[in-house]
Amino acid sequence: MLRTWFEIPLWQRVLTALILGVLTGYAWGPEAESIKWIGDFFIKSIKMLVVPLIFFSLVAGVAAIGDLRKLGAVGGRAMILFIVTGQIAVWLGLALGTFVQPGAGVDTSAIAKGATPEPNPTTAVDMILSIVPESPVQVMADVAVLPLIVFSMLIGIGILMAGKDGEPVQKIFDSGAVVMQKVTMIVMELTPFGVFALMAWVAGTLGIDALIALSKLVALNYVGCLLIIALIYGGMIKFLAKLPVRDFFRGIIDAMAVSYSTASSNATLPVTLRCAERNLGVSNSVASFVISLGATINMNGTAMYLGLATLFGAQIFGVDLTMGDYFLISILATLGAVGAAGIPGAGLIMMALVFGAVGVPLETIAFVAGVDRIMDMMRTTTNVSGDAAVATTVAVMTGEIDTKEMISADDV
Ligand code: ASP
Repeated sequence: MLRTWFEIPLWQRVLTALILGVLTGYAWGPEAESIKWIGDFFIKSIKMLVVPLIFFSLVAGVAAIGDLRKLGAVGGRAMILFIVTGQIAVWLGLALGTFVQPGAGVDTSAIAKGATPEPNPTTAVDMILSIVPESPVQVMADVAVLPLIVFSMLIGIGILMAGKDGEPVQKIFDSGAVVMQKVTMIVMELTPFGVFALMAWVAGTLGIDALIALSKLVALNYVGCLLIIALIYGGMIKFLAKLPVRDFFRGIIDAMAVSYSTASSNATLPVTLRCAERNLGVSNSVASFVISLGATINMNGTAMYLGLATLFGAQIFGVDLTMGDYFLISILATLGAVGAAGIPGAGLIMMALVFGAVGVPLETIAFVAGVDRIMDMMRTTTNVSGDAAVATTVAVMTGEIDTKEMISADDV
């Protein structure tokens, strides 16, 4: 019995839980609130992961760059492309969320907001001061993500500067990052139960409006991701790399298919590398450096989604956001995408980070968790295509590509 349960892929269990939860909620009505504690248990478990996950994976990610000089030619260019495209992606998510208002019209008055985080500092000076960790331990205890990210990046740079002496510490972080991915997998096993309980509670207290809002969110996630792939990556290949866009996408189709079905940038990494080298002619050193780094830190689909989902949460719970909040979201969503591991559901966990900073209730996470897998598949395809696009562009810029190797769409 237990074996059969674990043999069913997690996302299928979650989707089933979602449907059963909704039906139960409708049948049971507001009384369904009595099982909400199961969902709260799930949300608490997710929150537990945020600090160690960011700390280990970000330090390991920075240290993985290898040495400080490598940050120069290839790393510098790749980072600029990662950051610029990440910012465009978040603002695209924010624009879609603002204009379409997917969360508007849901009456949440029946919900007592249990986990509304206090908004963080609001003025620009407060914000600048708040990113310096006065005490790293305090920062972790308070789950203050921005200073934690600054601290983690500094440790990563310190490891690079220490060279050989830093290697033992680097190993600890590498292994810590892997361990945290496993712990995440354990917590994700709670998802079907959490989703069932929370959807029953949501459907019991909110009604059909909530479901309409969720389908709008899923649709917008797809629209945003497709726009990023077509316009940002297509534009990058056409105008910066000056290569045929059709051939590029033809070359990475395997990576796109694998990322869509696995919802994991990490699991797709070998396929992305192979596509970049064999089908696009990118040199091995550029491909392995840029694509491995990108699989960890370059997640434009995730960044776009974090922006969109934050507005969604704010709309369903009636949280007013200022322009300053939008800027805060744009920074945190980009950093959240950097800190997210390339595994299924990572974006879901990073929501706690962005929501906390602008006062959006964490219940939103549970609300969207049931449909996360469907959105995650598209986010991951976007993330992986972005890694390949940046690697190809940087390879062209640094003369590390053999375009004769590039397969043409007409060859197939
Ligand atoms: N699953 C995504 C990835 O591996 C991350 C996310 O959840 O957005 O790229």
